[in-house]
Amino acid sequence: MAASQEYLDKMQLRQNYRNVWHTDLMRTISADTPFFYKIFTCSGPCVSYLLRKRALYDDMSRYTCCAGYMPCSGRCGESKCPELCLCTEVFCCFGNSVASTRFLLQDEFNIQTTQCDNCIIGFMFCLQQLACICSIVACLVGNDELSDASQALNCLADIVYCTVCACMQTQHKVEMDKRDGKFGPVPMAVPPAQQMSRFDQPNPPNIERDKWVWGATNPIEFSVGSVRALIEERLLPYDNFKIPWIKWVPLKVNVFAWRAGLDCIPSKDCLIKRGISINYMCSLCSVHSESSVHLLLRCGIASSVWDKVFMWCKAPKELILTIRDILILHNSWPFSTMHKKLLHAIFVTTLWCIWKARNAKVFENKALDPMEILGI
Ligand SMILES: [Zn+2]
Repeated sequence: MAASQEYLDKMQLRQNYRNVWHTDLMRTISADTPFFYKIFTCSGPCVSYLLRKRALYDDMSRYTCCAGYMPCSGRCGESKCPELCLCTEVFCCFGNSVASTRFLLQDEFNIQTTQCDNCIIGFMFCLQQLACICSIVACLVGNDELSDASQALNCLADIVYCTVCACMQTQHKVEMDKRDGKFGPVPMAVPPAQQMSRFDQPNPPNIERDKWVWGATNPIEFSVGSVRALIEERLLPYDNFKIPWIKWVPLKVNVFAWRAGLDCIPSKDCLIKRGISINYMCSLCSVHSESSVHLLLRCGIASSVWDKVFMWCKAPKELILTIRDILILHNSWPFSTMHKKLLHAIFVTTLWCIWKARNAKVFENKALDPMEILGI
């Protein structure tokens, strides 16, 4: 249940991404025609295996079944034999494996899902469901003509499914080509070799001066502003989320709450995304994967802490799905402004205390129970 909620949260978050795929689904065939036909003539699962491995930078120790997006993720013995697990995934759950690689790349590069992509994927699913319903009806009625029509529809649905999967895989391959610098401007061009003028030459040879080339933007002149624009475009999620700043708590607590709301704290899932190879299990419960939402809200220990905080504040415990919900929760209550500010200060401090308890467990191996976390 918690895993499916995290999945929905991530789907929601992807709406705010503002980067786009280097090539959209409609243009993938022309973007890399040989690769597209290779998927058809070769095998989709084999290509899916290679693409996932490449998406993980060929580091299979980072592999999680279905990239951590499905309920089975983390429970398939990935750590013991990731290669075998990935083989099983791509052959038994081919559709899921393609979708998981897609989500992995979207989350890494903040790539949004466009309306066009949604329509194509939605059409594919609708066609499959229609074909399934027709087959059932044809089976029940026993009419030969209807049976032929359902077979034709099934065939069409399969063709559409294979084509969309091949397009997606080509799209992923092109995106990783771009990531790995296989096309486009070379960021730092090597300066040309120098030539020395000889003593007996009246004039030095006409050579180009040595220079560094900033090839990431056009025009190619380097400026700090261009780097900032590039970082904003490629790395930072588009977001206008604002939280109230509370002067009653230390600055670091405010900053932590703000970063947690943006999912920018060094929780294990974020560290893994940045290429750090660590055990992904939650530092507090060691049962689920450690995301900021799980660690600060849904983990059993964190949940007990929140129960006690709400009881102590005599505030109604509402449905809280994300960290942002906690940060704006006080606004929905009919309390005075001072009362709301006080509750907000308590909530951000609670987030900070859970994070401190997590760090105490990780770095000092100190296990704290909910009462100790609250300092009661
Ligand atoms: Zn946990």
